[in-house]
Amino acid sequence: MLKELIDKFYLDKERDREQHHFYITDAGKCSRAIFFKFKNMPRKKMTPEILRMFDHGNYVQMQILNALFGLGIVRASEINIPPQQLISGRADAILTLDNELYVVDFKSMNSMIFQKLEAAKEENINQIQLYMHFFEIPKGILLYVNKNTLELKEFALNYNPALCENLLQDLAALKIKIEKNIVPLRLSGYPENWQCRYCQFKEICKITGQKEVSWEAFKKKVQEGEGLDFLNNNI
Ligand code: SF4
Repeated sequence: MLKELIDKFYLDKERDREQHHFYITDAGKCSRAIFFKFKNMPRKKMTPEILRMFDHGNYVQMQILNALFGLGIVRASEINIPPQQLISGRADAILTLDNELYVVDFKSMNSMIFQKLEAAKEENINQIQLYMHFFEIPKGILLYVNKNTLELKEFALNYNPALCENLLQDLAALKIKIEKNIVPLRLSGYPENWQCRYCQFKEICKITGQKEVSWEAFKKKVQEGEGLDFLNNNI
């Protein structure tokens, strides 16, 4: 009854979508997984429970943003980076503290991960560094929220131009591979790398092999029966 309807609501929102440009959350992530997203490859489906947990995280973050509005320090919220060709993204907030501007990004997580968190996560640092880069604001704060207890942890960061340059260069190189249909290398540390553990493209990555390959040759191999059956219906 209701459960099925609610599950369907979440699953419908999560249909595979072809990606046409980079998001700031892609920065520093596995190039191959991003390539597969651009090619709209079939991916392991998320369960309605996981999708509801993401949704819950968004509500928790809104609650924190409301508190910051109450303090009167929010200068902008949900603000898009200035338009440019390579990448798009939206920062959670820009605040003023002690007469200085800060870009702020909220991250929510469960208690188990929150309790172990001693430093800002690398993928979150990449993201906020690019916000600082595009907004030309040299200070940022990553604010982590424990979804179970609503405890907070924060990490202040200064702009790192060299890191941003590297991240943007990597994305520009990946853009060329996507246009030329070259499947990038696997991540080093596959399959133990944390990104592989949560990757929705694990199956297709396994049959693609370690090296860079031509996307057309890979599709031919799958269509000739050397790949997984489900891929034949999707490429
Ligand atoms: S399994 Fe690992 S290497 Fe392969 S696409 Fe996913 S994240 Fe990348």
